[in-house]
Amino acid sequence: MDFNQTLCSLRDQLTCGDLSSEALVTHYLDRVDTVNPALNALIHVDREHSLAQARAADQALASDPDAKSKPLIGVPIALKDNIAHTGQPLTCASGILSSFVAPYDATVVKKLKDAGAVLMGRANLDEFAMGSSTENSSRGVTHNPWHADHIPGGSSGGSAAAVSAGLCSGALGSDTGGSIRQPASFCGCVGLKPSYGRVSRYGLTAFASSLDQIGPLARDVRDAATILNVIAGHDERDSTSVPQEAPDFAAHLGQDVKGLRIGLPKEYFVGGLEPEVKSAVETAVAQFESLGAEVVEVSLPHTEYAVATYYIICTAEASANLARFDGIRYGSRVDGKDPVELYSKTRGAGFGSEVKRRIILGTYVLSSGYYDAYYLRAQKVRTLIRQDFEKAFEKVDLLLTPTVPSPAFKVGEKSMDPLQMYLTDIFTISCNLVGNCGISLPCGFAQTPKLPIGLQLMGKSFEEAKLLQAAYAYEQSTDWHQAFPALS
Ligand code: GLN
Repeated sequence: MDFNQTLCSLRDQLTCGDLSSEALVTHYLDRVDTVNPALNALIHVDREHSLAQARAADQALASDPDAKSKPLIGVPIALKDNIAHTGQPLTCASGILSSFVAPYDATVVKKLKDAGAVLMGRANLDEFAMGSSTENSSRGVTHNPWHADHIPGGSSGGSAAAVSAGLCSGALGSDTGGSIRQPASFCGCVGLKPSYGRVSRYGLTAFASSLDQIGPLARDVRDAATILNVIAGHDERDSTSVPQEAPDFAAHLGQDVKGLRIGLPKEYFVGGLEPEVKSAVETAVAQFESLGAEVVEVSLPHTEYAVATYYIICTAEASANLARFDGIRYGSRVDGKDPVELYSKTRGAGFGSEVKRRIILGTYVLSSGYYDAYYLRAQKVRTLIRQDFEKAFEKVDLLLTPTVPSPAFKVGEKSMDPLQMYLTDIFTISCNLVGNCGISLPCGFAQTPKLPIGLQLMGKSFEEAKLLQAAYAYEQSTDWHQAFPALS
């Protein structure tokens, strides 16, 4: 079986009867058995449950004429382990939730089920999605399918590695500051962060509620558009989801990019960018020009404040969101002589060090006396960053940047130095602060060792269709997306 096939091609083979979902899912489960122990991309796979869903898809295809038009009928999808799926573990890679089982479905999960998908496994992540390398997981690090000494990125590193290694045909991740796009870049797949409000967050364990979005990781742009079509749309259970009809995101794929104006933010092409990344991205820019796009330089002058702003806002929100994990309502408990001791022992034992660091920092920036100096100031800078983007988008349709300044770093290289780790998010976090949409897609390789390089495109809020159209045009004019890591 060729595991480098796209979700759309597998679905077509299923709907025309060339393949059964049971056979397909069995192939993937067998591959998980052989490849996953070394990768640790999936931290829970329920074989029987997966096969039962596959058989149900086969039965629907055989007996229900409408089943053929279900966009994900019979294809295996992995979920980041911070998205609720009834009856399945929901650990967020945290000790505090190590034995927690989801009692309900996230809205995206309900939509995937309605679309016929086989929900095959839980993907590893940095604890509560806090991190850039999947090293902050209580379930152990995930390895990069292109080179096991390297991290897969994070926090959706398990989802990206699973897609890249062909353990599933697509996956969902969550992106608060780059956690879909950055691991997609490091693992050589496509990762899309939808605009804030496009996809319901109901059933996603909240990290930073004003920044979090769920989105697809996929083998190519068409697959990403197909998954987005399924999960997008208003949900009355999430008051921040926009009451607006989602268009057909795949409808414009194949249209050319002639006359499309693409902006290169000059602040993203300065020092710190590794030469191989710079040259791969410059080659991609030339490719867009040869396809007829018009490329101009733009400025996002507040870029240098983005990392600091993000880490104040996300930690503030995290400190509030994670208050619910108190040993009373969810997860594990360590008893104490009174409630205060119970809370502190439970939280002390259950959370990892990065999560504790962020709760402490977030509590500090929200505390009286520091609120104005840090949190309020960060919100003001957030507005300035948003205005930078609004100005740039007056001149251009899309922005093009590297996704990350470097290819995947080594396991352990930055884990002792949180600031170095935070700085790797420099190109992805503004998109979350602003709330617009962004995608990472493969645009080359670093050579020694061979590791993927990603290109980021960002669009205005709710202009995913245009973003995907441009990404598709580039992708189809190159063959980077067809590369596949050499795994056993
Ligand atoms: N790396 C960023 C962080 O550590 C982004 C995480 C995310 O997008 N979930 O917060």
